[in-house]
Amino acid sequence: MTEPWYQDGLSFACARCSGCCRGGPGYVFLAKEDLRRLLNRLSLDFPTFFRRYCTLVNIGTGWALSLGERRNYDCVFWSDQGCSVYEDRPVQCSTYPFWSSIMESRKSWQAAGDDCPGIGRGELRSPEYIEKRLGERRDAGTIVLDDNAARSPESIDADTLLGS
Ligand code: SF4
Ligand code: SF4
Repeated sequence: MTEPWYQDGLSFACARCSGCCRGGPGYVFLAKEDLRRLLNRLSLDFPTFFRRYCTLVNIGTGWALSLGERRNYDCVFWSDQGCSVYEDRPVQCSTYPFWSSIMESRKSWQAAGDDCPGIGRGELRSPEYIEKRLGERRDAGTIVLDDNAARSPESIDADTLLGS
């Protein structure tokens, strides 16, 4: 098997600039496990959680569930103290910047570094560490609603959505 381009490891240490949580448009897609943890943490039912914190994004094959943003593009969970759900933040957040789109090539890694001062500095992450993060994101998946469910997301029962 061919060695990945990052076989010597990559340096990354979050500089806590908050750039990936605020200040620009973007989506934080939710996986089932993310939703389960956040509903538990906030003691909310899905309709209330959806109304307060979510939006749906048309991805062509359905409607992906994403966290919403405030008018200034801050994530709905951003606060003056940082991420207000940090311990239970979505896997999309906890695995950054080790996403398949960024890990595609050295060029895409370096391009991501233009927006993230943590890339290329600090702790050397091994290829095994990187593969683990990539796997976590891949395995988590994203909640996608069909057109019917997307018409009335506030009537969806969490157990049905989570398959439990
Ligand atoms: S953009 Fe990079 S350095 Fe800034 S908060 Fe996000 S991960 Fe950390
Ligand atoms: S959930 Fe937390 S870590 Fe993720 S984008 Fe929102 S504020 Fe940032």
